Amino acid sequence: MHVEIDHPCVQHKLAIIRDVDTGHKRFRELATEITKFLCYEALQNIKVKNVTVTTPVAEAQCKKIDTDIVVVPILRAGVGMLEGILELVPTARVGFVGLFRDEETKKPVTYYERFPPQIKGGTCIVVDPMLATGGSTVAALDLLKQSGAENIVVICIVTCPEGLKLVEESHPDVAVYTAAIDERLNEKKYIVPGLGDAGDRLFGTTD
Ligand code: URA
Repeated sequence: MHVEIDHPCVQHKLAIIRDVDTGHKRFRELATEITKFLCYEALQNIKVKNVTVTTPVAEAQCKKIDTDIVVVPILRAGVGMLEGILELVPTARVGFVGLFRDEETKKPVTYYERFPPQIKGGTCIVVDPMLATGGSTVAALDLLKQSGAENIVVICIVTCPEGLKLVEESHPDVAVYTAAIDERLNEKKYIVPGLGDAGDRLFGTTD
């Protein structure tokens, strides 16, 4: 299952973040702003409990979030989406997954993995701005499930049919929320038209 958020406020920001002339400061701000909108949609159906709150006037029947939320950025670019999630859910816990691609096997290899215990029973949000081949996302989902996570959503800023297909075939229970499903991958496995190397653009590691 995947959801492409076509809201004008998201699409307007997406147009700016894609622009080659958008510098790293604005790129980071936009990644945070877009992520916040995507997270808002992705958490629409999380568990809530009914609570009674005393206002200055009377008692009000209200709802509060009733699940632990764990955000899991895939290093390095996923870190650029962390602030957006934490602005929306300040009590979220944070886990990390670090992966690199073995150039011989072409498969992702884990070099770092650290999850809060609340992944069991809580709601996990895996974040990576670019869901390209889907290899890293699937590897992160495999690790989370091996560690006991059952309820997981993925949020990315841009994806493509190839990456979505792999994630949906490997983890049909996981919903992907995105601002754009682009055309395809190029020979370097970059999303076309995409927005380039998200990590470099976020952290200013370009010329
Ligand atoms: N990672 C990126 O940063 N950009 C892409 O287009 C694909 C993967």
